[in-house]
Amino acid sequence: MRVLIYGGSFNPPHLGHIRSVRTAIAALEPDLTLLIPAAIPPHKQLAAETPAQDDRFHMTGLAAGQIPGCETSDIELGRQGPSYTSDTLRQMHERYPAAELVFLMGTDMLLTIESWHEPQTIMALSSLAVFARETGREGEIEAQAAHLREAYGATVFVLEGEPVTVSSTQIRALLPKRQGREYLPDSVYGYIIRRRLYGARPDLDWLRERAYAYLKPTRVEHVRGAEAMARALARRWGADESDAAEAAILHDCTKKYDRDGQLRICEKYGIIPDKWELENDRLLHARTGAAFAADEFGAPEHIASAIRWHTTGRPGMTLLEKIVFLADAIEESRRPYPALETIRRTAFEDLDAALELCLRRTLVFLQEQGEPIHPNTARTREYYLKKLEEKGASPVEWAAQDQ
Ligand code: ATP
Repeated sequence: MRVLIYGGSFNPPHLGHIRSVRTAIAALEPDLTLLIPAAIPPHKQLAAETPAQDDRFHMTGLAAGQIPGCETSDIELGRQGPSYTSDTLRQMHERYPAAELVFLMGTDMLLTIESWHEPQTIMALSSLAVFARETGREGEIEAQAAHLREAYGATVFVLEGEPVTVSSTQIRALLPKRQGREYLPDSVYGYIIRRRLYGARPDLDWLRERAYAYLKPTRVEHVRGAEAMARALARRWGADESDAAEAAILHDCTKKYDRDGQLRICEKYGIIPDKWELENDRLLHARTGAAFAADEFGAPEHIASAIRWHTTGRPGMTLLEKIVFLADAIEESRRPYPALETIRRTAFEDLDAALELCLRRTLVFLQEQGEPIHPNTARTREYYLKKLEEKGASPVEWAAQDQ
């Protein structure tokens, strides 16, 4: 029996790790392959933004799921102190006494193995397999393999294959910039985004694809329009354009659900609908959308709140809340309604005036339809009317032809 063992921080596990394991499995045909995340790596300090052990273990399991015959072991996470490979191999030897153990590693590890804790024990208990992290170091690897064979009687397999030149450190630096997805298995990337590990913000192409799956096909055009308008407003008013896009992409993510669906989501997230929301369940999608976006896509507070308030508004809205509220109301594919053109123009001249006008128009429309009016809408309109007065500005009238 041959057991292939791959230890590391897996912080996070990436396609370099996966390529390495796949190559080793193809070359060495082990009966069992184990990925073993280290609790405390002896050779390096875990980065400050390292998530909880459970998260690293879970991500390692997701990565192992990409490779047939590969499993994850928590043997090092359960141990106190530095996670020495020699201790792990001793435990593995006890567990599989008749097995040949093969310890897989990258170039950096092979070149430094003599400085590890108990290198003789490591090389006595297991064979080594090395898969290069980058091209051009074949000579160094071969020389080190020959040295280890000679000096320690080690068995060293030098694996051949195209490397994936990336490290977890590089990926951690890319994730907050909405980059790095191409180096990660999709399941690991989805988990990182959902939990916003490493300060990650989603790649917007990835988010669109996932978020649009929750929309009725007829709503996609509106959401695309809202994103374009939110971006334009963010540029105009100095907000983070990609955050505005993210909020707009997600703003209607629960819109397709009917009353029963909305109430089920409310129950799941502990949302207690008020009497206006119960009377008019279309109001609920803003609240359920915010909770769903936070749970499913890890939307942080400032983005969730822009989704939360995009239907009624609220007094004292943040810049992002205003942008998403208005983008939803004035995006290019909106069917024309009275004052639309005036609100569009005003949104690029004075945000508060545009909000006041948009809310005033909504109040008039709801009154005409005899629909219940949520007090937040009226309250928000009053708040922004007062702000205009304080600035000495008059509310904007819309032109008669803007009908
Ligand atoms: P960090 O950047 O946080 O130091 P890392 O990318 O080096 O992390 P680890 O999880 O610490 O990854 O490494 C585990 C094992 O995987 C080590 O043996 C390492 O040499 C190997 N390894 C890491 N990246 C690659 C890669 N791109 N190709 C091949 N092997 C790799």
